[in-house]
Amino acid sequence: MIDYDAYLSRAGVSMQGSAIRKMGVVAAGIPDIISFAPGYPDPTVFAWEELREIVSSLLDGHDPNALQYGPTRGHTPLLGALLEILASRGIRCGADQVLVTTGSQQGLDLVARILCDPGDAVIVELPAYTGAIAAFKDVQADLVGVRQQQDGVDLDHLEDVLAGLKQRGRRVRCIYIVPNFQNPTGMLISLEKRRRLLAVAARHNVLIVEDDPYGDLYFNDADATLTRPIKADDDEGRVIYLSSFSKTLAPGFRVAWIAAPAALVAKLDTAKQAADLCTGSLDQRIVYEAWVRGVLARRVPELRSRYRYKKTVMEDAMRAGMPGLLRWQEPRGGFFIWAALPEHLSGDAMLQAALAERVVYVAGAAFFVDGSGRNLIRLSFSAPAPDVIVEGIRRLARVVRTAAEASTAPGV
Ligand code: PMP
Repeated sequence: MIDYDAYLSRAGVSMQGSAIRKMGVVAAGIPDIISFAPGYPDPTVFAWEELREIVSSLLDGHDPNALQYGPTRGHTPLLGALLEILASRGIRCGADQVLVTTGSQQGLDLVARILCDPGDAVIVELPAYTGAIAAFKDVQADLVGVRQQQDGVDLDHLEDVLAGLKQRGRRVRCIYIVPNFQNPTGMLISLEKRRRLLAVAARHNVLIVEDDPYGDLYFNDADATLTRPIKADDDEGRVIYLSSFSKTLAPGFRVAWIAAPAALVAKLDTAKQAADLCTGSLDQRIVYEAWVRGVLARRVPELRSRYRYKKTVMEDAMRAGMPGLLRWQEPRGGFFIWAALPEHLSGDAMLQAALAERVVYVAGAAFFVDGSGRNLIRLSFSAPAPDVIVEGIRRLARVVRTAAEASTAPGV
């Protein structure tokens, strides 16, 4: 018998599967389970008809490159479209400053690869997106957490953490941040804080990795201006900006992009050559056609109202089913409600009971690099149908009420 563990790299040994994926596997084995675990888009709002037409026109044979390898940097017309999309978000970019990636997840992996040596420090929020944690951990970066306040990252704590790391002679590569409707908290960082964050990064000479898959999905039109990316005010070239078509068109295409200073994009391009040579040629053409034919522009306002409605359905069900038991800050966009259980309960410990009731969520600890977050849970309202959300919250309410009663029972 070969001991395969003996062949693994240090990074290979330490790699761990995502808590969100694990929940997916567990849930798949339970009939009629209702899952609030993965942040999947609602499949009923995919542009099925229009995409069918686009795909069939792309496969009529007139473009032999539709199924060919393409440039690593991306399909040229799509790169042009990206410059326009970025400009609409206030980001001015040249053609040498964008790169298409196979999902933003690949973008995070490439960024981690080109920036970090083992032991380099990377600053993340408490809590942070698990996929980013995984990408930085896989290159053996040392993840250091910074607390959040109601309007996003706590800049005083960030200053303290950066000063402490400097004092200990540590090399800090970047601050990873999701300013718009963060995964998992749904939090929107205030504009004032975005400006100050840029100034803090400049003062400490660290890069910012800004991950923005949810910025288009605000629930109130009045918030549109509040999603202005940090990158839009980055005169110095300090921000690596990532965004994706996963949440607005469909994640199955795996088409996303990075906008960054040309020197970094050139490095990312080289790293991508070793990862996958190029993003799917057909996928990029489909996404480009969806953009150029106005499918995206028509669809996104519908998504905003659809997700706003589902968020409201979930919140109403939570208030009705377990009044006073869960606390959360109302999300103003995105896919998630981040809820605090009563202090003495643990999201992880409650999972078995939740699975027995055929409902599942992601326990909050997975999002914290400092081992905290035990009483928090992430509930995703994006994928399930509204009546399913109501039933799922009813089941969850039974679980939470029972756990709360058991833990306050006399003698326990
Ligand atoms: N960043 C964040 C914050 C996300 O929530 C996700 C998807 N869950 C991603 C990146 C990855 O998205 P993509 O589908 O583009 O790989």
